[in-house]
Amino acid sequence: MGECCGKNKAKAPGESCGCEKKKTVLFYACSGGANVAEVADRAARQLMFEGAGSMFCLAGIGAGIPGMVQTAREADVNLVIDGCPMDCGKKAFDKAGLTNCVQIKVTGLGIEKVKVTRATDEQVAQVVAKAKEVLAAGQ
Ligand code: SF4
Repeated sequence: MGECCGKNKAKAPGESCGCEKKKTVLFYACSGGANVAEVADRAARQLMFEGAGSMFCLAGIGAGIPGMVQTAREADVNLVIDGCPMDCGKKAFDKAGLTNCVQIKVTGLGIEKVKVTRATDEQVAQVVAKAKEVLAAGQ
């Protein structure tokens, strides 16, 4: 059970008042030029549109925009989806001094980085499934 503000009357003894604090879950995708980056980008958007959290701008973290770095610092979960072992997203977090992130690497799921190739629906679904697994493990 999440945190409760206690402002409203609980339905039953021991239950929360129904105002449980929602976790701030942010998704970042490397969104580079490679097919695996397209997979990362589409997966992050799908997770957002399914209501699992919000996609946030990795470029803002990389650029060191203070308010955006602060938002990431205060988030409950920062899930960084990188396309390949170059780890651009994770390195942007490192550079900003942010240690509170978990990373998924698209190539680490057996998806090959191939030039001039589009992401497939199956690949996106695979990354979305992995992200949900990672989120569930962190509950
Ligand atoms: S992590 Fe790989 S795919 Fe993503 S932007 Fe960096 S080099 Fe491109």
